[in-house]
Amino acid sequence: MLDIRVVGDEVLRQKAKPVRRVNKEVQTLLREMAETMYEADGIGLAAPQVGISRRVIVADVGEGLVELVNPEILYREGVQTGFEGCLSIPDLMGEVERAQNIRVTGLDSHGRQVWVDCDGLMARCLQHEIDHLDGVLFTDLAVNVVPRTARADDEEVVLD
Ligand code: ZN
Repeated sequence: MLDIRVVGDEVLRQKAKPVRRVNKEVQTLLREMAETMYEADGIGLAAPQVGISRRVIVADVGEGLVELVNPEILYREGVQTGFEGCLSIPDLMGEVERAQNIRVTGLDSHGRQVWVDCDGLMARCLQHEIDHLDGVLFTDLAVNVVPRTARADDEEVVLD
């Protein structure tokens, strides 16, 4: 399991660099990030959270693993509001407004271009992860931040 960086670590505030080629090193990173995400009981993880300032994310909201290199949101539609948590901000959760539907493109672990159309929790998760690549944390966007224990049973919480 990779070390998860927490708020205060500078890498979380850097704009991550694009990956030039999906090589073995990137494939290893994707695999180790997925293992770390599952181990930590998260539904998503972005490379800066494990100290790597590259545009790489993984997510699994219960519908299977999604790996994206250089992800980019092509469009956003609608609005949803819900609570999010973050493995890099262990003590807090906050209510964040996100797009309800998004279309994302990026490269998979073989370097092939893929498109992901999603809504609800998956859309929320991917927006949260892609924010990490730009050095944005959910607490920058949240309208209401509370201690995590206050709503620990909330099913919509994104723990990435
Ligand atoms: Zn996060």
